[in-house]
Amino acid sequence: MAHKLLLLPGDGIGPEIMAQAVKILNWLRDTRGLKLEMEEELVGGASLAVHNHPIRDEVIAKAKEVDAVLFGSVGDPKWKDVPFDRRPEVAILKLRKDLNLYANLRPAQLFDPLLSASALKPDVVRGLDLMIVRETVGGIYFGEPRGIKTLPDGSRVGINTEVYTTSEIERVARVAFELARLRQGRVCSVEKCNVMESGLLWKEVVTDLHQRDYKDVELSHMLADNCAMQLVRAPRQFDVIVTGNLFGDLLSDLASMLTGSLGMLPSATLGSVNENGKRAALYEPIHGSAPDIAGKNIANPLAQILSLAMLLRYSLKRLEDAALIELAVSKVLESGLRTADIATDGVKAVSTEEMGEAVLKTLAKLA
Ligand code: NAD
Repeated sequence: MAHKLLLLPGDGIGPEIMAQAVKILNWLRDTRGLKLEMEEELVGGASLAVHNHPIRDEVIAKAKEVDAVLFGSVGDPKWKDVPFDRRPEVAILKLRKDLNLYANLRPAQLFDPLLSASALKPDVVRGLDLMIVRETVGGIYFGEPRGIKTLPDGSRVGINTEVYTTSEIERVARVAFELARLRQGRVCSVEKCNVMESGLLWKEVVTDLHQRDYKDVELSHMLADNCAMQLVRAPRQFDVIVTGNLFGDLLSDLASMLTGSLGMLPSATLGSVNENGKRAALYEPIHGSAPDIAGKNIANPLAQILSLAMLLRYSLKRLEDAALIELAVSKVLESGLRTADIATDGVKAVSTEEMGEAVLKTLAKLA
């Protein structure tokens, strides 16, 4: 049976980098027997322009039906004045919420040829391979009460609320423990239990789950501010980090600079397994729509291509194809090819399309 994929390129550089991933999908279909049914839809500003909404209900329904969603990025300054609930970014927030995609997996892995592109010294980051598991449907981005209110004295107040239930914490921690078992067997749980009750509950629930089901995995706890510092001081101490929505957002962007560029980092967001044994899943680069470089054919497509590799591994169980893509990316980097974001002084940068073509050619050689 064919695997069903929904492609959502979105805004800015989204369509440019998605085009490179689609070339690889077509190659896998034509040469490696991957049976595929692909459909593409508008989201974000692109959807606002045509449908007057960042994501239509029928797109959400399709996303629920397919084996996996490959997402580009959304966000366009053109729409900065639309009401908050119609902004392009609503598309990704709504997908995460409606598909109940609660666990965001963000690997930060340094390819050796990019050692010099890292913001840190080579000795500190060589061989870096960590995974941040971020809770994505709860916490302060969704908690109630929220809003901007006017007080009786006329002053205004902005309110957001950090809320986590036991089951929300437990299910994301379970993902982290399971992943650790496939890696180096270590989980570091991150919160701020020193000043937040939600952090206190987070720590208790993770500790209980560890005692009950995952004693074979090594568990440590760290305050989020210390974790930010440790990620810069000694990032290789971490294997899997599990944390809430807000801290995960910040820490994973920080971790991205350890690897050289936002343009290198893929991600997966996983939901629950349904009655048909299908796990809702969305794959996307961690970066945004990069409006400053959109339309110039200079964006790095590797995060999008590596997101496709994660899709093949986690949703389609095509482990060999996933590994092949990662190897091809590594070889292309070894050969010295760089887009502008990862090019060091004196290296002539290649375009988005040239980078995509190089990965494709390398795949054909390796296969
Ligand atoms: P951004 O990630 O789009 O860009 C930050 C910087 O990194 C920019 O200088 C950009 O040029 C560069 N960059 C990002 N991806 C790159 C790539 N593949 N190749 C080369 N350079 C790259 O973040 P931002 O500027 O804060 O946000 C821009 C828009 O994207 C905003 O509307 C924001 O809301 C949105 N956004 C969307 C998502 C998403 O779709 N999941 C995530 C983050 C931000």
